[in-house]
Amino acid sequence: MRYVVIDRGDDHSQQLSERFHTLAAAQGFTPDEHQPDIVISIGGDGTLLEAFHKYVHLLDQVSFIGVHTGHLGFYADWQAHELDTLVMKMAEDKPQYVRYPLIEVVSNTPDGSDRYLALNEFTLKGVEGTLVASIHINDELFEMFRGDGIVVSTPSGSTAYNKSLGGAVIHPSIESLQIAEIASINNRVYRTLGSSVVLPKHHHCDIVSAKESQRLALVVDHITIERNDIRSLRCTVSDKKICFARYRPFPFWRRVRDAFLVEP
Ligand code: NAP
Ligand code: MN
Repeated sequence: MRYVVIDRGDDHSQQLSERFHTLAAAQGFTPDEHQPDIVISIGGDGTLLEAFHKYVHLLDQVSFIGVHTGHLGFYADWQAHELDTLVMKMAEDKPQYVRYPLIEVVSNTPDGSDRYLALNEFTLKGVEGTLVASIHINDELFEMFRGDGIVVSTPSGSTAYNKSLGGAVIHPSIESLQIAEIASINNRVYRTLGSSVVLPKHHHCDIVSAKESQRLALVVDHITIERNDIRSLRCTVSDKKICFARYRPFPFWRRVRDAFLVEP
């Protein structure tokens, strides 16, 4: 088994990372940061987002495992004190592979296009003033948006930024994307639905800039890209998925309950 560990960088996470290397060596696992089979993220959900983007080019061959060193994580199912159990299970058991949908965003500029994959969401915001854009669903104009921004999230990202905006929590087995608004201005010219919408996999959504050149911030999970030449963005559910290796069940609704409703 070839593995790599990505940690949050704080003392506790670094210590656990060292401990993981020691336990892994005893089992004969090989550290390999270039061609890993398994990516272990030690920290929070933000650490797993970093690990995802670092190995996004290897999605077809790697699976992810999250260890949380802070509060309970949505992507991190193992606690710090369970590291020995995890390594033992990795050596002895066959994991179940669980795959979650991702969203793909293609930005179109006069000079070409760029493609991004998001695990949580992608957010479009105006940098100077409000964002003005039309939203098209399946090539038909849907609404004219003016406001702070638009968030397009994956099912597993629906519990993050999307939830703060009043979006629905979507089970990751439902291949879909959700479009939520950030502070839309509503009057006779700019009118939006207000509620978030959920599109199935075979639909697509275009966000078309309504100004000749507006400075936009495109935030892919935790990565911000600023540009003033974006004409439009196409959002779809990607054909690619992220794969998690599960050595024990980690039910989504239990995670939602434990994170938002009751102390586990
Ligand atoms: P951060 O500011 O540390 O993250 C904000 C919080 O979101 C953290 O508590 C993080 O958990 C949690 N989180 C991340 N993914 C989640 C998920 N899928 N479900 C539930 N909670 C989740 O920044 P970050 O760690 O780099 O994470 C980037 C994410 O922050 C973005 O993808 C976006 O979803 C979220 N965000 C939220 C808001 C908002 O709610 N108003 C605004 C901007 C960004 P950890 O502490 O375990 O990392
Ligand atoms: Mn974080």
